[in-house]
Amino acid sequence: MAPQIKYTKLFIDNEWVDSKSGKTFETRSPHDGSVIATVAEGDKADIDEAVKAARRAFHRNSEWRLMDASQRGRILTKFADLVDRDVEYLTKLESYDNGMVISIAQRFVGGVTKFIRYIASLADKIQGDTIPVDGDAFSYTLKQPVGVCGLILPWNVPILMFVNKVVTALATGCTVVVKPAEQTPLTALALAALLKEAGVPKGVVNIVNGYGETAGVALTHHPHVAKISFTGSAEVGKLIQQAAGSRNLKRVTLELGGKSPLIIMDDADLNIAVPFAANGVFAHQGQICIAASRLYVQSNIYDKFVEAAVNFAKGIKVGDPNDPTVHQGPQVEEEMMNKVLRYIEQGKKEGAKLLTGGKRIGNRGYYIEPTVFADVDDEMTIAKEEIFGPVQSILKFDTLEEVIDRANDTNYGLAAGIFTTNVNTALQFSKHVEAGVVWVNTYLYTGAQLPFGGFKDSGLGRENGMNCVDPYLEVKTVTVALPKKL
Ligand code: NAD
Ligand code: MG
Repeated sequence: MAPQIKYTKLFIDNEWVDSKSGKTFETRSPHDGSVIATVAEGDKADIDEAVKAARRAFHRNSEWRLMDASQRGRILTKFADLVDRDVEYLTKLESYDNGMVISIAQRFVGGVTKFIRYIASLADKIQGDTIPVDGDAFSYTLKQPVGVCGLILPWNVPILMFVNKVVTALATGCTVVVKPAEQTPLTALALAALLKEAGVPKGVVNIVNGYGETAGVALTHHPHVAKISFTGSAEVGKLIQQAAGSRNLKRVTLELGGKSPLIIMDDADLNIAVPFAANGVFAHQGQICIAASRLYVQSNIYDKFVEAAVNFAKGIKVGDPNDPTVHQGPQVEEEMMNKVLRYIEQGKKEGAKLLTGGKRIGNRGYYIEPTVFADVDDEMTIAKEEIFGPVQSILKFDTLEEVIDRANDTNYGLAAGIFTTNVNTALQFSKHVEAGVVWVNTYLYTGAQLPFGGFKDSGLGRENGMNCVDPYLEVKTVTVALPKKL
C-alpha cells in the first residue's frame, strides 16, 4: 500500500506554508510514472523568506544561539529516536518517491540513525586551543558556527544526504535552508516535522522545495547565506562554486560524482570479487556516486571473470521496488532513464561488446536491464562519463603500474577499489590511486566514522568522520594582554 503523504508545503520558521507564487509541481512514482503528490514550488521569494527566518534564528540572542551545545546534541539524539519510531514509514516514503528497492531503503533509512547519533555526539566536543605565544599575552581559539547554511540535496539517497548535511550543520549551531531535489521532495519534509517535534526552535531548519535553476540559484547567490553544501553532478557543482563567490564569499562543500575504478588482480578470490563488483555498480540501479563504473580486470583472468560477471548480471531480479525479493528497481525519472539508454547506445556505437542487457524493460515506469559491456577502452564515452545507471563496463589490463595510471587518468577522484590477496599490491594501489575513498577486498563500505569525499572534480571537503563539523565552523583567535610578572 502507498504510504500516506502528510506534508507537501514549504517549511519555514517551523510552519507549513504555500509558496508565495502559489505554484506547485508534481512528483512521480518511478515505478509507473503516476503522480504521487503535488508539492509547493518555492523560488527566489520563498528562499528570501527562509533565509530571513534562518538569520533570525542565528541572532546572538536567539534561543538556538543561547542553547548549551550539549542540549543541541540532545535534541539531535531525540531526532534519531523519532526517526527510529517512524522508520517503517520513512522507508516506504523514500522507496515510493525515489524508486529505491525496499531492501536497500531499509538499509539506508534503518542505518541513518547511526549517522545522526554519531554527529549529534560531536555537538559538545567542538573546542579550540590555548596557545603559548611570545610576549606578554595569552591566546586561545574559539570555533564558532559560520551562520546560515544553504544545503542543496540530490535525489539518489535523499534521507542520508539530508542527515549528513542538516545534522552536521545543526551540531555546530548553524541554521539552515534546505533545497531538496525536485525528483524527491517528500522525505525532507517528513524529517523537518520530526526535527520540530524533537525541539529544534523555529527558523533553525527551513525547507524550500523547487527547481535548481530557480530556488537553487537563489540560494547559492543569496548574500546572507554564509555557506553552501551541495551533493549532485560535477557540472552543477562548478556552477555552485562560481555562484558562491558572486555576491559574498560563501564557504563551499561539494560532494560530486565519480567514475570510480575497481581493479581485479589475477590473484583475487573471484567468488568474492564478482559479486562485489556487480553490487558496486548495480546496487540502487547504479545511481550512487561511488558506483564501480570502470571495472579493470587483469588479463590472465579476464575471460573467466567476464563470463562470471555476465552470469551474475543475468541473475539480478528487476521489478517493483516494493517486492522484498527484487534487487533492482526503476531509474528515478524518465529523463535519467533516457540518459542512461543514450550512454548504452553510445557504448555500442563506439565498439564496446554488449554481452547482456542494454534495453528498457516494458514501457511503464523507468526500468533498464542490468547491462554488461566488455572490451571497453579508456577513450570510450562509457569509460569517461558518469552514467548513473545499471551499466557495468569491463576493461582489460596487464600490470599494476599500468592500471594505476589508467585509473588516475580522469578528472574524477571519488572512490576506488582493488581485489587482491597480495598486501603489497593493495598498499601500493591505495597509496597511488587518486581517490578520496579506497577499498581493499570490499566495496561501497561507508560509515558515520569514516570521512567521505572526493579528490579533483569529485568535490571539495569531507562529510562524516570526527572532522565533519569543521566546514561549518570559523576559527577565531583571541589574544589577551597578560603581563608575565604580577
Ligand atoms: P543536479 O546536480 O542537476 O542536481 C542536484 C541538486 O542541485 C538538485 O537539488 C537540483 O535542483 C540542484 N541544482 C541544479 N542546478 C542548480 C543550480 N544551477 N544551482 C543550484 N542548485 C542546482 O543533478 P541531477 O540533474 O539530479 O543529476 C544529474 C547527474 O548528477 C546524474 O546523472 C549523476 O551523474 C549526478 N548525480 C550525482 C550524485 C552524487 O551523489 N554525487 C547525486 C545525484 C546525481
Ligand atoms: Mg538536473
